[in-house]
Amino acid sequence: MIKNSLSVDLESFVYRELDPLKRKRDDGYTPRATSQILNLLDTHNTKITFFILGEIYEQYPELVDEIRKRGHEIGYHGHTHQQIMNKEILLEELERSAIFIKKFKPIGFRAPRMYLPMECLEVLSSYGFTYDSSIYGGIPFKTGGMVEVPVSAWSPLGISAKFPRSLMSLVLSMGIPYGSGLSFALFGKLISRFVERENKKGNSSILFVHPWQFMPYTLVTGKNRFLSMLIYRTNINNTFEYLLKRHMFVPMRELVKA
Ligand SMILES: [Zn+2]
Repeated sequence: MIKNSLSVDLESFVYRELDPLKRKRDDGYTPRATSQILNLLDTHNTKITFFILGEIYEQYPELVDEIRKRGHEIGYHGHTHQQIMNKEILLEELERSAIFIKKFKPIGFRAPRMYLPMECLEVLSSYGFTYDSSIYGGIPFKTGGMVEVPVSAWSPLGISAKFPRSLMSLVLSMGIPYGSGLSFALFGKLISRFVERENKKGNSSILFVHPWQFMPYTLVTGKNRFLSMLIYRTNINNTFEYLLKRHMFVPMRELVKA
């Protein structure tokens, strides 16, 4: 059976607000939603990777300890969830997460908003990271002293890895990012068919979700209102469980090792 990767980008819905000064804490929403995920994983005897924000660790240290205690891999997702536009921003984020990084020694990184300039790979490598999962499409490859594990995408035109490639540029090239949390809301159980298709070719599928997709909240404001309603109010719990039943998932570090 082909091993796939399912990961959780551990962040709160409050990070939709880009201005950190206007952002509030989520008052326990993230631990509640994450507990639901942890219980599902236990039920299906599956260990996965959590890419965790430094700020979430500061707010809920016991939650991150619990994730580790239950045998999951701890990866890193930046400190404040700001977009990593250059090396300097990444270095700042890493410094702010110093305690988290020292304690958990993550080797895997996923950039916030799936955007990472290539120059950042060597910075990550110098901080002990050995793999990154911040682009869409293609199979894992070595670059900048790291292994890049692209999130799964499918295109009728065929798809090869390109660094960096954002969600928008992927969609414009007719790619379907079936590994993204957004696709869980859009396609539901159909994602399983994409996974099967890729597994038949001998390749792993790389998928990810967010805690806020398991306990949709009713607050829908701001721009892109329609899209927001679709994404933020679709509970992906059943799709997640359906995939756990049908496919084999392992922590991403195991795929990288292989
Ligand atoms: Zn994120």
